[in-house]
Formats: sequence, C-alpha cells, structure tokens
Amino acid sequence: MIVRKSPAEIETMREAGRVTACALAAVGAAVRAGVTTGELDDLAATAIRDAGALPAFKGYHGFPATICASPNSVVVHGIPGRERLVDGDIISVDVGAIVDGYYGDAAFTWPVGEVAPEVARLLEVTRRGLEAGIARCVPGMRLYDISAAVQRVAEGGGFSVVREYVGHGIGRAMHEEPQVPNYGTAGRGPTLQPGMVLAIEPMVNLGGPGVVQAKDGWTVSTADGSPSAHFEHTVAITEDGPVVLTVE
Ligand code: MG
Repeated sequence: MIVRKSPAEIETMREAGRVTACALAAVGAAVRAGVTTGELDDLAATAIRDAGALPAFKGYHGFPATICASPNSVVVHGIPGRERLVDGDIISVDVGAIVDGYYGDAAFTWPVGEVAPEVARLLEVTRRGLEAGIARCVPGMRLYDISAAVQRVAEGGGFSVVREYVGHGIGRAMHEEPQVPNYGTAGRGPTLQPGMVLAIEPMVNLGGPGVVQAKDGWTVSTADGSPSAHFEHTVAITEDGPVVLTVE
C-alpha cells in the first residue's frame, strides 16, 4: 500500500529533509584528501544531534554508523572507518535523519581533488538522472515514468544502472512502498498522486551494471571494479509538482 501524506506530515518531513541536507552539507564541506570516512561520519552525527534529530541509519538492521560512505567502486552501504580519501577518489555519502517520527534520506557523490574526466562525467550524468526523475514527480504521471527518465539519462551518457538496489517510498518508515527502480518502461506503474513521498536514488556505474556484496554483509561494490555514483533526494509529489524536501 502506498501511504499518502497530509500537508502537515509533509511539513514535518520537510524538517527531516532539512536536517538530512544539513548533515550532508557538513560532510561535503569536509571532503578532501586525507580525511577519513569515520571523520565524515562524526560530522554527520554531530549535525543531526545538534538539530535535535535522530540518525536514521544507525542501528537500522544493525548498521553501525550514521552515514554510508561508499568510495570509488563501492556502490552503496559502505561502512565508514579509518579509510583515508586520496586525490582522484570519489566518495558517495548516504545519510538519513528522523524528526518527530518522520524520515529524510539523501545522498551525494563528491570528487576528491582532481578526478579522471570520465569519472567527473559519471557524477554529472548521475546527478542529471536524479533531476530528470524528480521532474516526473507530478500528479497523473506514472511511477515508471520516473524510472525510465533516470535510465534514459544514465544509459544515454554511456553508463549503466544498478538493478539490485532501488529508490523507495518514505515517511514514518525509511522504506515504504513503492519501490522506485532506476530502470523501467514509461507509462507503467501506479499513477502518481499528491501526498506521495519518494526517495529517488540513481546508482550508476561507469562499467557494467553488476554488483557484489562483501562478506561484511553491507558493502556493495561494482562487480567489474568500475567507479559508481549515487545521488538521492526525498521528494514530495504535490498539486504544484515536485517538492524536494532534502534541502537546507
Ligand atoms: Mg534511500
């Protein structure tokens, strides 16, 4: 069942989204060669705590940290720790916050110093894929219009879309129905209605679409070792069109 949110609920989710965006911004401001992913995790934890909110990921199915930190060929769900970023890396960070029982969820991928031109283009195309998906968050459109728009941009850029992990509805739980794949056939799926809130999150690989999970039970990497990018926003569908909730 897809739970539609009232305007009052969406206002609360806007606050959860704002805290999430602030945490992500605190991380982004610190991304540079020499910083550890554990230090980035501390910054996000502090930002969420200082806002009086709760971290959404810590303890979720036993996840040990506030952020997912996924460098280079790690697609999603990397565990932050002692790993030090170096010039030429990319680092994807996914973070969530809870305010009054409602969730926000967002992700961003940064270059560390100078990255290869093809990698810079991967980040740009993945970000444009997210924007294309958000633009379809309009009442009357269909769910897979979002999916098809993301896929068209990603594959049009010469990259591939991860199948195993998808976006999702979000509200009083981090993962609600429906699933929001980053691939699909336009014109299919449930009709989008005001009050639906979706986390749209393209995961795009420079090489092939395949992924593998590490023995830690969390870290998901590209099967071919190619770099992967991840951008995510929590988006409310309203009569006036898409409203991105994960903004400062
Ligand atoms: Mg998500």
